[in-house]
Amino acid sequence: MERLTSQQILAIWELGNKQAPSQRALTLASYTEPAASQEILAQLPLGLRNQKLLQLREQLFGQEMACVLPCPQCSQLLEFNLNTQQLIHTVNTDFAMPLQASIDGFELSYRLLTTEDLQMVLVGIDYHDYDVLEQALLPRCLLTISYEGKTCGYQDLPATTKQAFIKLLEQSDPLAEVKLDLVCPNCQNAWQGLFDIVSFLWDELAQQAQRLLAEVHQLALAYGWSEQAILALSMTRRQYYLARLAQC
Ligand SMILES: [Zn+2]
Repeated sequence: MERLTSQQILAIWELGNKQAPSQRALTLASYTEPAASQEILAQLPLGLRNQKLLQLREQLFGQEMACVLPCPQCSQLLEFNLNTQQLIHTVNTDFAMPLQASIDGFELSYRLLTTEDLQMVLVGIDYHDYDVLEQALLPRCLLTISYEGKTCGYQDLPATTKQAFIKLLEQSDPLAEVKLDLVCPNCQNAWQGLFDIVSFLWDELAQQAQRLLAEVHQLALAYGWSEQAILALSMTRRQYYLARLAQC
């Protein structure tokens, strides 16, 4: 992966600002795989897509990620660090499609969730919501269902089998959704928090883009240089000029 330039960071930010989170994920992922089309990236299992985003995060801002999540019970903010490499190593790359499983006597062939599934089904809906997952996304992942040799439909699956399938889907692609076991030091509430690399990386990139624009603003005012010329400067040179200005 080539290192992103300041111009590219601003270009991603400008484009992604108008996009829904799932489309933003593809915009970010496309910088890790310039040769891959958006369609190909949209059809990657979510874990593989997230692996690319973690690699991009590592290249832009390093391995350590400082996270903050509010306790759902007392709203106390919990601060903790995650490491990109630790998460990257949980990705499952060892699967042959379609995957096969047998649950409660039902023979299932299935595939993993992709960004395309989220885009087709959910516009502004929380896909962590169990009902949404069950009604909209599961039927897309289940390719064939049979019971005692007879083909069945999704509606034939009992609720408990659907729940077991959701668990299996999560285990098959652990990096699709990163769940963290957290305990609040204030009220001792224990819960599972979600770490979403798409929104995490997006927030960092947006902050970086705004820092860059602020630097352009300052240097353009002081020296009269163009935006293009300022962004073409190395970070070391930009910081040098900004430090000189601060002394004036
Ligand atoms: Zn708490």
